[in-house]
Amino acid sequence: MAVLWLDEISAGDLETVGGKGASLGELTGAGLPVPPGFVVTAGTYRSFIEEAGIDDELFDAVDVDADDSASLAEAADRAQELITETPFPDDLREEILAAYHEVGSDGADAAEEPADGDDGGAFVAVRSSATAEDLPDASFAGQQETFLNVTEDRLLERVRECWASLFTQRAIYYREEQGFDHSTVNIAVVVQQMVDADKSGVMFTSHPSTGEPTMIIEAAWGLGEAVVSGAVSPDNYVVSREDGSTDVTVAEKKVMHVKDESTGETVEREVPSERRDERVISEGEIESLVELGERVETHYGEPQDVEWAMVDGEVFMLQSRPITTIDETDRSEGTGIDPIDGAGDPTAGVTDGSGALKGDAETGASGSNGDSGTTLVDGLGSSPGIVSGPAKIVRKLDDLAKISEGDVIVTEMTMPDMVPAMKRATGIITDEGGMTSHAAIVSRELGVPAIVGTTNATSVLEDGQVVTLDGERGAVLEGAEVEPEEETEPVEEVRPQSPVKPMTATEVKVNVSIPEAAERAAATGADGVGLLRTEHMILSLNQTPEKFIEENGTDAYTNELVEGIRSVADEFYPRPVRVRTLDAPTDEFRQLEGGENEPNEHNPMLGYRGIRRSLDRTDVFAHELEAFRRLYDLGYDNVEIMFPLVNDAEDVYQAKRQMSEAGIDPAKRKWGVMIETPASALCVEEMATTGIDFASFGTNDLTQYTLAVDRNNENVADRFDELHPGVLRLIGDVIETCREHDVDTSICGQAGSKPDMVQFLVNEGISSISANIDAVRDVQHEVKRVEQKLLLESVR
Ligand code: PEP
Ligand code: MG
Repeated sequence: MAVLWLDEISAGDLETVGGKGASLGELTGAGLPVPPGFVVTAGTYRSFIEEAGIDDELFDAVDVDADDSASLAEAADRAQELITETPFPDDLREEILAAYHEVGSDGADAAEEPADGDDGGAFVAVRSSATAEDLPDASFAGQQETFLNVTEDRLLERVRECWASLFTQRAIYYREEQGFDHSTVNIAVVVQQMVDADKSGVMFTSHPSTGEPTMIIEAAWGLGEAVVSGAVSPDNYVVSREDGSTDVTVAEKKVMHVKDESTGETVEREVPSERRDERVISEGEIESLVELGERVETHYGEPQDVEWAMVDGEVFMLQSRPITTIDETDRSEGTGIDPIDGAGDPTAGVTDGSGALKGDAETGASGSNGDSGTTLVDGLGSSPGIVSGPAKIVRKLDDLAKISEGDVIVTEMTMPDMVPAMKRATGIITDEGGMTSHAAIVSRELGVPAIVGTTNATSVLEDGQVVTLDGERGAVLEGAEVEPEEETEPVEEVRPQSPVKPMTATEVKVNVSIPEAAERAAATGADGVGLLRTEHMILSLNQTPEKFIEENGTDAYTNELVEGIRSVADEFYPRPVRVRTLDAPTDEFRQLEGGENEPNEHNPMLGYRGIRRSLDRTDVFAHELEAFRRLYDLGYDNVEIMFPLVNDAEDVYQAKRQMSEAGIDPAKRKWGVMIETPASALCVEEMATTGIDFASFGTNDLTQYTLAVDRNNENVADRFDELHPGVLRLIGDVIETCREHDVDTSICGQAGSKPDMVQFLVNEGISSISANIDAVRDVQHEVKRVEQKLLLESVR
């Protein structure tokens, strides 16, 4: 038997029908409303390649050095060609087509009137279904092929394409890395009648973060792919399973996925204006979904993540998986560590995000903790958490060897070479630097409490002296205030975060600057990465791009970027990762080997950086863009490109041209710009016509350029104010213009982590907010609060 019907399958048939097939079979058997269909079994794939005699050639072709991009690309092409160009044996063809016709006839009870193709056959969905070997990480394995609205003429081709999806570059690379033998991996294909949904979405039968008895339903118009792929912001319905109360957030649903009547293809269409803000599901429909959710959860005995669709009020289940994101740490509220006096107030002694400490004098006085601990030094609390340990003064790189777990690094300024030691350390204190310095960004991302910009820590503190560091307030106290076993607690637990991850219409993303932080960033439950800075990947090479290329070649340079970006894109897949092209000022490059060739600039912040440098050195920029092209070839379709420091449409057109020349089709990829200069804010209307998908506020730079306040200059730090009316007016106008032109807006500067700015932005209608790792959860709550307020106001 080449195929098995869904009602013949149970969960135990995983090896034969793959995860998706087994789950659908199980649900069908439990009497749940699953559209009819069958599975082309994994054994059928196996006998297809063996009987055609292509198996040995196939496995030889993919036995390559996966780190060699050229061989990997060649291997994937050859393997996929072998499968897609080998004809079906007659008996197999007939068996699959006979099953297909049955789906279109008596099996077709998915809707009263089955959706028919031109030839009268049913429209079916064809999806790959990974088998046991790859299941733990099926998303990495690339077996994600899904074809919708398929009819008889393309069915067999689509089945072969699902088989070939075992051999995308990304899948081959992944198996090589994980040590999987290519010849032991199989794949099944689910063929199932399409539900021509008028509304659809996902449902979590318990809270996806906390496991609370709350059902969360997301719903949008048309086919569910728009919700699953993130193309649309869906409505959000939170239903208490204890008292049945419902909390509804209606989103603006700009697009929907529907079947094109003439071609049968799934296409993205604009939602008619009158339905954009219309609530998708009624109270009665919520009840049907909740009832279904309860049945499926009871059947499996654990919370489920369900994909559903509705046709004329009738509900269908398309998929159900256990929820894997319920986070144990979210259940623990705090750790019992007594915060140092004043630390409970998150604004006490915290900087405005730019430079100097607000109220230094008070901090000095109140920093003394009464009978325990005198304030030794103070600075900017740049990464929250309270820890104690022996101070270790690092004056040169050789000193890093003396850093053991539990030590507090005290140094003038951290450097990329220090990252391994920073990971070991329990805390970090620097003399120099502001909130966006290397030490501040890296420590925050590593979750290590830190204080920067103390000016004198390396001279005041003594080597080996035990200190307590309060990364919230920016104070270093004498002695140990925190018990050693408590010191190693992750920072999220030191600083209790709200326990529930709220669903929001405005997306909440996270900023990442070092690939080492990707896992921690992904665990926040953020909707993606709003800014991945690439500078730290280059700075850690310790050579300027030009020098590195001169010594190691262009391919090595591109590979460094591919590897750095890939590690983050993998961690978040399929959530989007917005990668910014290089933007390091010349004074940062000067510290590297080759830095002697950097131009000597009077004011590097106004100088040769960002897109200006890229468009001037297109020879180097091309190799950076080549990294993106390779990532797309590898299947990282979640990667987006963002250009920094553009001023006008001309800058954008030039960048776009470079993208095309590097073999990246701007029409097929998501790309956009940062709004960091007043000129870019004032010229956004022209920029919106260049084809950009998004504009993201870099408020660190936008503030310094609007107010003429150098973000690194302590003398004017008290004037650095991202909430200045001038800055807010520019931001508000850009959001309005972008909304008119259907360009998404976002923020990725420090200010996105501040509640006041979040309130302003949500009220203005920003599409997404990207925050620091430690701020994501609080920002999610703030966004939710403001959205609910807006909703209430709109109905009052
Ligand atoms: C910004 O300017 O706000 C920004 C996010 O970029 P960077 O801090 O890297 O200049
Ligand atoms: Mg910037």
